[in-house]
Amino acid sequence: MMLRRFMSSVPKRVQLWAWVAVGCALLIGLVAGYEAADKGSVLRTMSAFGSAGLSFGMLAAIWLLCLGFVYADARRRAMRPVLWVLVAALFPHLLGFLLYFVLRQPLALPCGHCGHTVPLQQRFCSECGAAQAEPVAANGPLGGDSAIPPLSAG
Ligand SMILES: [Zn+2]
Repeated sequence: MMLRRFMSSVPKRVQLWAWVAVGCALLIGLVAGYEAADKGSVLRTMSAFGSAGLSFGMLAAIWLLCLGFVYADARRRAMRPVLWVLVAALFPHLLGFLLYFVLRQPLALPCGHCGHTVPLQQRFCSECGAAQAEPVAANGPLGGDSAIPPLSAG
């Protein structure tokens, strides 16, 4: 499932913040509705404001989850995660996300020696200099138990 893979890539902390955003927006909507309501129509105004707040919160949550995905995905590809999150967040009309998906590097694997992420096409670790095994041959002395399993492209 696309969505399951997407959600499993988003850091847990970001998922938590997405829920917090939904909850806060709903709460603000309800309170604003209560403040704005006349005596007779409290419930109606509150539910109208509440659902507006909820939709806004959902949008904010989806946006947060996408940023979280970019962060985790950039890290897995040995790109600069903070830079790319900023690009995705600051460019208008989702251009930053588009830019990220156009420019992103192929997947990276952790170095078997020191754990530093090394792009697949790079044959030596830039951190410790250890030679990297071919991606296909995972039965070397160091391969096999990488911390981050690579996502299959299919
Ligand atoms: Zn290394």
